[in-house]
Amino acid sequence: MAAYVGRFAPSPTGALHAGSLVAALASWLDARAHAGRWLVRIEDVDGPRCVPGADHVILQQLAACGLLPDEPPVWQSQRGPRYQQALEQLLSAGWAYPCGCTRKDIADAWAASGRARPRHAELVYPGTCRTGLHGKPARAVRALTAGRGADGGWRDIHITWQDRRLGTQQQNLSQQVGDFVLKRADGLWAYQLAVVVDDAEQQVSQVVRGEDLADNTPRQIHLQRLLGLPTPGYLHTPLVLGANGEKLSKQNGALAFDTGRPLQALQEAATMLGLSAPAGATLADMLAGLVAQWAARYRQA
Ligand code: GLU
Repeated sequence: MAAYVGRFAPSPTGALHAGSLVAALASWLDARAHAGRWLVRIEDVDGPRCVPGADHVILQQLAACGLLPDEPPVWQSQRGPRYQQALEQLLSAGWAYPCGCTRKDIADAWAASGRARPRHAELVYPGTCRTGLHGKPARAVRALTAGRGADGGWRDIHITWQDRRLGTQQQNLSQQVGDFVLKRADGLWAYQLAVVVDDAEQQVSQVVRGEDLADNTPRQIHLQRLLGLPTPGYLHTPLVLGANGEKLSKQNGALAFDTGRPLQALQEAATMLGLSAPAGATLADMLAGLVAQWAARYRQA
């Protein structure tokens, strides 16, 4: 079996809150339960959304909880040339193409197709620029999510994958997601490309992260296949809901957890993962107890 490498990959858009600590703890527990390495990667590709200093606050919060990475953290903002290489590989293989559509172009194409427009969801890209820019200037670069059949027509791509907690998952990538952005019109790298390039380069063997990211997994598996990269294992952890029943997020004002009380923060995160953290234990004892419980449940043969 290849060496276990896990990672926690926060976006530095603010300090960790109770929900992000659950994902951090779960990925750390899984790495420790497999006697593997655990890495931290700061996903700061979306510069305008990042909060200056939040990266260091996050690293301090993790350290206060005893979650220490086995290697110095990596910052995605320094890895543009690697993303560019991957993009060029996809472009030259015909699996990525420049797109000149604005949001309005996409909405107009939907309206013209006569299909009902989904509410509260990003519109699936109608594929307009698959056949060329039609005289428009290039804006973004998209990944192709359909293959050519023997008759020259488009064939949907279905991705099936195993989640270690959620079981078998599947998605019709062509219909449910559509050709997705790899490089944005503002020149920024998209999460999907950066995460795939970095997980492979860091030899991540198991991705453990929040369930809100589960439906990104087929896009990432698609890119791994196109780039000839291995697909890691996946485990998506339960989400922490706020009092209003919505997922806790920085956007809806979730508060940073209190680093002055790491035992309490860890205890709450453990409860969310269905683990019981003994009250009154020291930090080291609590973490050791949690690793043992996690191993009993999730260690793979
Ligand atoms: N950076 C992403 C986030 O904070 C997580 C990426 C991942 O774990 O794949 O939402």
